[in-house]
Amino acid sequence: MNPKAMQKLGYGLYIVCSKKEDKYNGQIANTIFQVCSEPPVIAMAINRQNLTHEFIAQSKVFTGSILSQDAPLSFIGNFGFKSGRQVDKFENVHYKLGETLVPIVLDHTLAYLEAKVFNQLEVGTHTIFLGEIVEGEVVKEGDPMTYAYYHQVKRGTTPKSAPSYVEETKKVVSNTIKYKCNVCGYIYDPEKGDPDGGIKPGTPFDEISDSWACPVCGATKDMFAKMEE
Ligand code: FE
Repeated sequence: MNPKAMQKLGYGLYIVCSKKEDKYNGQIANTIFQVCSEPPVIAMAINRQNLTHEFIAQSKVFTGSILSQDAPLSFIGNFGFKSGRQVDKFENVHYKLGETLVPIVLDHTLAYLEAKVFNQLEVGTHTIFLGEIVEGEVVKEGDPMTYAYYHQVKRGTTPKSAPSYVEETKKVVSNTIKYKCNVCGYIYDPEKGDPDGGIKPGTPFDEISDSWACPVCGATKDMFAKMEE
């Protein structure tokens, strides 16, 4: 099987939350989809090693926030590249509790769904949870974040063969050397800068303050390596 064939599948990007007793956790997931409308049921695949998996398996309830395309990298990184075993992911995050008392993240969220698990299937490293919807609401209008948009535009991993890449390189900038985060793979592109982190487009990597951190995983600047052109 050519692994590139699988990479052509399209996904969204969601924050999935659950609880265990009085503790909350949430994580990024790209696999939520509607199975049927009568009754309203969604399916979701979660890695069994994740703390959120442990919480859902026990409480049998979860929420899914559908992220907006303008969600910043740092916000996604807080839920995606950190573990709730080490940090409280809900610090500085705007959320409310749903009918099942599971947190629903509202920041950068277009809509949310709340579900009760009624069945599950173990598949390799993951569990597919089937959840019946108990509540769902639109928070604001906008374009949903897709997994492809997150990787290509937000994380700067647009392949050189892509038409958008060719367009970008036509611009003349003083320093175009990219740097890659050794922890998460995020690529700092001087042309784009890191506007969410206060770095203007056109800022060479060398001129970024030492207090700056990887917008995806929070790694320090010395964890970045120069990329060869
Ligand atoms: Fe990183």
